[in-house]
Amino acid sequence: MKILVIGAGFSGATIARELAEHGHTVTVIEKRAHIGGNAFDYLNEYGIRIHKYGPHLFHTSNKEVFEWTSKFTNWIPYKHKVKALLADGTLVTLPPNKETAEKVGAENIIDIFYRPYSKKMWGVDMEELDPDIFNRVKIREDMNEFYFPDDLFQFLPADGYTQLIENIFKHPLINISLNTPYAPGIENQYDHTFNSMPIDEFFQYRFGQLPYRSIKFHTKTIAVPSVFPVSVINFTHKEPFTRATEWKNFPGHGTHSGFTSITVEEPCDFIDNEFERYYPVKDIQGHNKALYKKYQNIIPSKMTFIGRCGLYAYLDMHQAISSALKITKDFIDNAKS
Ligand SMILES: Cc1cc2nc3c(=O)[nH]c(=O)nc-3n(C[C@H](O)[C@H](O)[C@H](O)COP(=O)(O)OP(=O)(O)OC[C@H]3O[C@@H](n4cnc5c(N)ncnc54)[C@H](O)[C@@H]3O)c2cc1C
Repeated sequence: MKILVIGAGFSGATIARELAEHGHTVTVIEKRAHIGGNAFDYLNEYGIRIHKYGPHLFHTSNKEVFEWTSKFTNWIPYKHKVKALLADGTLVTLPPNKETAEKVGAENIIDIFYRPYSKKMWGVDMEELDPDIFNRVKIREDMNEFYFPDDLFQFLPADGYTQLIENIFKHPLINISLNTPYAPGIENQYDHTFNSMPIDEFFQYRFGQLPYRSIKFHTKTIAVPSVFPVSVINFTHKEPFTRATEWKNFPGHGTHSGFTSITVEEPCDFIDNEFERYYPVKDIQGHNKALYKKYQNIIPSKMTFIGRCGLYAYLDMHQAISSALKITKDFIDNAKS
């Protein structure tokens, strides 16, 4: 079959590779000037690796996903730790653990860490958000200081995410066109299309716009060897910034002795950030999911929506890969029957 894949992130790459392995011819179009989607990274002039769209940590307990992804990269073991900066200048572990609770008082945890974060990150009070969002960063009652305490596989790709995704795309039946946004009707030239563009944009917002949160990334390189004791520091203050990443503190992200690069994140509505859609908004009433369902009901038969913006779901990389592997398997099984 002739297949079109819209979007060269993890979802599009996984589907393109699996279908090419099964003998299908795959054309990938990507509106940005680079592959990798939001996992794109690059080396700056100091040899420091920057993740352009925020720090990406690969973590999963899904063995199938880990083994599939391992075909395309070597790994550097890395277990992520995050510290939160308190008003008195001290650092405590995040998600809050026993030590954090002892320092700030267990009864203050919600007001210090979750309430201000919710306002900055989502632009609303935490009561208006689906509690699922906060379950991702659970409060711990032990001294564990890892951000993903339960995941079996926690690694960084040895040569970066862009190289990993380039390796996924490296197949004679896959062709990629960068700087190529979806043009209406192009799908008619193909037997099937896998589409990771925002579903509401594809349908020209006929039922209304699906909301997203976005982030403005402020990156600076400064002439000091190092600033933070860990890679990521979260802010608890009232300023609009949520966290800062010092890239060199991730293993394999550069060793420059005189300079270090830091990115500070400022969340905003996606409309205030050139329509860069990062996080689907899970409202407690479920209005956004209901709007998504209206679009889902009118998807043409020769098209499958995939990925974060196609499914309007918060997907980590391992979930994007897992979902794409399942979608491809179902497609191949259906084509056979
Ligand atoms: C700030 C931030 C931090 C994150 N941290 C982590 C983390 O630590 N760990 C983790 O596992 N995951 C993390 N993620 C999630 C990770 O980025 C996603 O799981 C992954 O990128 C999903 O891949 P995708 O292909 O579904 O979507 P995307 O990466 O968004 O790729 C979609 C692609 O489609 C392209 N596209 C869109 N519209 C069009 C169009 N009209 N025409 C052509 N192309 C189009 C886009 O340019 C993009 O390249 C993070 C995400 C963000 C935003």
